[in-house]
Amino acid sequence: MTLPGHVDHLIVGAGFARLCAAIKLAEDGETDVVVIERAGEVGGTWRDNTYPGACCDVPSQLYSFSFARNPEWTSSYSPQPEIQDYLRSVARAYGVTDKTVFDTELEHAAWDDEGQVWRCRTSAGEVVAKTLISGTGGLSEPRLPDLDGLATFRGPLFHSARWDHSVDLVGKRIAVIGTGASAIQIVPELQQVAGHLDVYQRTAPWVIPRNDRRYPTLERAALRRVPALAKLYRTGIYWAHEGYVPAFTWQPRLGAPAERGALMNLRKGIKDPVLRAKATPHFRLGCKRVLRSNTYYPALASSNVELVTEQIARVSADSIVTGDGVEHPVDVIVVATGFYTTELPIAERIVGRAGRSLAEEWAAGGMSAYKGTTVHGFPNLFTIVGPNTGQGHTSVVFMIESQIAYVRDAIRTMREQGYAAVEPRADAQRRWNANLQRRMRRTVWNTGGCSSWYLDAQGRNTVLWPKSTFTFRRGLARFDTQAYDLQVARPTPEREPVA
Ligand code: NAP
Repeated sequence: MTLPGHVDHLIVGAGFARLCAAIKLAEDGETDVVVIERAGEVGGTWRDNTYPGACCDVPSQLYSFSFARNPEWTSSYSPQPEIQDYLRSVARAYGVTDKTVFDTELEHAAWDDEGQVWRCRTSAGEVVAKTLISGTGGLSEPRLPDLDGLATFRGPLFHSARWDHSVDLVGKRIAVIGTGASAIQIVPELQQVAGHLDVYQRTAPWVIPRNDRRYPTLERAALRRVPALAKLYRTGIYWAHEGYVPAFTWQPRLGAPAERGALMNLRKGIKDPVLRAKATPHFRLGCKRVLRSNTYYPALASSNVELVTEQIARVSADSIVTGDGVEHPVDVIVVATGFYTTELPIAERIVGRAGRSLAEEWAAGGMSAYKGTTVHGFPNLFTIVGPNTGQGHTSVVFMIESQIAYVRDAIRTMREQGYAAVEPRADAQRRWNANLQRRMRRTVWNTGGCSSWYLDAQGRNTVLWPKSTFTFRRGLARFDTQAYDLQVARPTPEREPVA
């Protein structure tokens, strides 16, 4: 479709979060909805991360919409192509594909307080929207490491989320920089094809076993025919994962049994005590994202792999030089160094009531929102996967569905009560975040002895939710008008309520 000039609801992006928004608004009879997607197809992070071994580390039964369960998952942890197929088919089945303007990027969005609308500039033209539904969190903007000489490297160099499939890796000397969730999936795959593989580790991660299994045809048929069975699987997995919450948010020592399991995984995978010592983590489990793999440690122990723990001093045209002066020749560099998670590029493009961007608003105190979903000074902006809505133990889809329920209720309320604009009050947002940050003090993310992408430059955790996910869902069950400044429509042509 082509971009219209006016729309009730403009949704930016078409990953899990924004697909859910489009589907649920349509269910409520909101017909004037347009999605803009900067790529040529839906999928978000699951479209972008095509690296070898890309796989979900949350069980598939839970990593799917509650209203579109998928009995066709072939295994308990789905590989990227299956998740991408799932998202494509959901987008098609629920008519979102037809509402999406592809290859279109949001360049700038400014709240017009007179008109009570968002005036948006996109790469495909201008559009005026009554509400703007955007993602401000997430893992979409690759972060390259700030390494001396990186630009001088002459061979292929790419980020894990921008895999260059045209590069032939067979027999090559490959370097992987990073040992996070992406790297530990990539390394076992590259080990099988590389002539030599150097893995550059800054911090050894916790890696627990991945209890993966394939679903036999019979089991899939049962899941297809008996929806209650699929629901039961999902519920069981949900509560099993929720069991991590006390250890992560309240008493990190409760993670000790999982730490023992991870150390057994390490002993099983690596026999050499020197290598094992290098790969042993020195912080509390959960402080960084807990990784799951049965193949990472055996890959590190392979004869064509070296785990390099000396820090990188510089990169030259054809090598990586470490702090001890050793030059490691390399043909291909894979950068698995994560994403911009707390200083989000999109925040610079969204400008609120006072003419300040989200990035400017958040520069001093870090990202913050009310209930992770609305922001004081930015009326009618809904941030899905917004500040403090992430979690390190379960499916983000659960949080997304909770947020979308809140957005639906907000839009319903606007329609029914004739409000043209809703904006959380400053005091409500302040109280919400003060409570969150108080809760954050005793979490493993703040006390576990590590630095992670959950923390911003000031050391504030503005990414994760510090309680159970059902508490989040309960807190967002209803749009709480008492926390909002509610504006009725002003009498000019563009100032109609959402209705
Ligand atoms: P990440 O977890 O942020 O890991 C980045 C890695 O790069 C870390 O090991 C980090 O070391 C290292 N690093 C960063 N800058 C460096 C530098 N200048 N020099 C050397 N090393 C450097 O990124 P990611 O692995 O892409 O994963 C990001 C998130 O994506 C995950 O936490 C997870 O939520 C998600 N993810 C999910 C799945 C899934 O299966 N669902 C799969 C992949 C990713 P330090 O630890 O020392 O900082």
